[in-house]
Amino acid sequence: MSIFEIKEHMDALVKELNQHNYNYYVLAQPVISDFEFDKKLEELEDLEKQYPEYQNPDSPTQIVGGGITKEFQTVKHKWPMLSLGNTYNEQDLKDFDERIRKSIGDQFEYVCELKFDGLSISLTYENGKLERAVTRGDGTQGDDVTANAKTIRTIPKQLKGSDYPDNFEIRGEVFMHKPAFERLNKERIELGEVPYANPRNFAAGTLKMQDSAEVARRPLDCFLYFLYTDKRLYNTHWESLQAVKTWGFHICEHNTLCKNIDEVLAFIHSWQDKRSNLTYDIDGIVIKVNSYAQQHELGFTAKSPRWAIAYKYKAQEVETVLERVTYQVGRTGAVTPVANLKPVLLAGTTVKRATLHNANEIIRLDLHEGDTVLIEKGGEIIPKIIAVNTEKRKPDAKKVSYPDVCPECGSNLIRKEGEVAFYCPNDEGCPPQIVGKIQHFISRKAMNIDGLGQETIEAFYRRGLIEHISDLYTLYEKSDLLKQLDRFGERSITNMLEGIEKSKQMPFEKVLFGLGIRYVGETVAKKLAAHFNNIDSLINASFEELTSVDEIGGRIAESLIDYFKEPKHLQQIEELRNHGLQFESNHTAIEFESNKLEEKTFIISGVFERYSREELKDLIEAHGGKIVSSISAKLNYLVAGDNMGPSKLEKATKLNIPIISDDELLELIK
Ligand code: AMP
Ligand code: ZN
Repeated sequence: MSIFEIKEHMDALVKELNQHNYNYYVLAQPVISDFEFDKKLEELEDLEKQYPEYQNPDSPTQIVGGGITKEFQTVKHKWPMLSLGNTYNEQDLKDFDERIRKSIGDQFEYVCELKFDGLSISLTYENGKLERAVTRGDGTQGDDVTANAKTIRTIPKQLKGSDYPDNFEIRGEVFMHKPAFERLNKERIELGEVPYANPRNFAAGTLKMQDSAEVARRPLDCFLYFLYTDKRLYNTHWESLQAVKTWGFHICEHNTLCKNIDEVLAFIHSWQDKRSNLTYDIDGIVIKVNSYAQQHELGFTAKSPRWAIAYKYKAQEVETVLERVTYQVGRTGAVTPVANLKPVLLAGTTVKRATLHNANEIIRLDLHEGDTVLIEKGGEIIPKIIAVNTEKRKPDAKKVSYPDVCPECGSNLIRKEGEVAFYCPNDEGCPPQIVGKIQHFISRKAMNIDGLGQETIEAFYRRGLIEHISDLYTLYEKSDLLKQLDRFGERSITNMLEGIEKSKQMPFEKVLFGLGIRYVGETVAKKLAAHFNNIDSLINASFEELTSVDEIGGRIAESLIDYFKEPKHLQQIEELRNHGLQFESNHTAIEFESNKLEEKTFIISGVFERYSREELKDLIEAHGGKIVSSISAKLNYLVAGDNMGPSKLEKATKLNIPIISDDELLELIK
């Protein structure tokens, strides 16, 4: 390579790495694995060492990756949030140990911690109260996400005990447990939304949501791992971890004190395989010198502390052959490509399939038939293809081409502007869509119909017994036909018909959710039902009226308008209404003003299903009540929703203050 070409190559690397940093930190949608990223970064670092004169000022080696999201307030960190030096190789750890010994001698200990794969957060406490929560951002300044952080149960809003300093900062990692991730992602797919690639992205996306009530519904967790105080309170990191635990912080139970690097290596080896049994993802082990005095002596480089290092596990990956790509049609018509692979063992399980997400992914990989592919199992349970081994590609291999027509019904696929997924528009005639919609309607979170299972719906459809949701309500007329079905006895038929009959009492919001309108999830359905009160007002609502409801954006409004434009949808609604289903909210119309709550004081805490806290506050005030800020013996009522802080609850219980629900509050006013 000529000197000119080297410089050009370095600049290209800088540009590429900055883009990856942006994808990772700002969009929370990385397109390459951490391992690939680190390899490229290493290459750049090496070149910069060899050719310091060509170092680009924008180089990611000069800054900690990141960026600031506009909507949140930017806050400067009191102590910069640095990155950690990291390595994939044990020799580097021995070198790290050597360097430390040269600098401070042999008398020191390490603390080994799991390296949680989430996003770091800095929490500031004043007089025992959580004052502020800020993301890492670019390391110097981050986003104020206090409102959202307050919804995380394992972040104490009020500390326990009394031996904490008046002012301090504590840092940790916000993450989502794998089972919660799986469940919530499944819901997103069912709603026709783009699933998150892994728990970290889900956590990152959640922490930056504007509505903290929605954040509260998504279970996040937080481990704390650094304490920062103005005056030194403890001599070692280990002691401070023990102390902060007694203040109420969530500290990982696997932290271990190690006497020397051999114990550190043993710790690392022991977690190599054990880590797959954790309910959360870790991508390595963090090793920290225990003594604060020694940390101080070792100091920092521009980017990271010299007294700590992260050892990263290589993502488990393996090569296999792509047998074919199949396409699944979901209930909303979204067509998802799936890679069917030659079965191969990876991280202890046999892998046969990998997700391809959407058409763009096929293009990104430049996937060809029969390709040899590298698959990786990171946080996600379903592995993904990270690269194609083009050297093993047969010369005449054809490109994998995304179909133009629906694999189930042959309709031409469509793609909406700004969306990545292709859809089959034939929602009335495409079997998986028809079955999927009825299955959704009867599901637990929608109409929750007893005695009717998902497979039964499929069987009924195949026999021509049902084609629309409304057909469920005429099944009783066909009990002779039902009796002819295998494994369907008299008892189960009666049970099912009773379940169907009972579902007519399900509230409007459940019916609305059950209709399966794209982007109308449980929460949105509740908001719409509460705001419009009945289906007719909702059908007639304009785009402006819809988007004026809090949390209803343009995308949802458009989807509703499209849905109600279809005569066949209106006809379904009409039929369901004639069968006696609920298309009106029955939550008591609230009298606008009164003095029923005069002289009474209230605190509202937690998250409520049907109302925002703001709405409840307005309601209380409209009826003469007063909202106060702290719990005292004089408080009349604590209105409690989900996820209320445990310390508040404890205090209220101790003082014998009546704790009431939103429904009970409405009772007071009625
Ligand atoms: P990196 O992002 O690879 O530079 O690694 C540094 C990041 O690891 C920190 O900013 C933290 O977000 C994260 N991390 C996860 N677990 C720990 C831990 N136990 N101690 C310190 N940092 C951790
Ligand atoms: Zn179709």
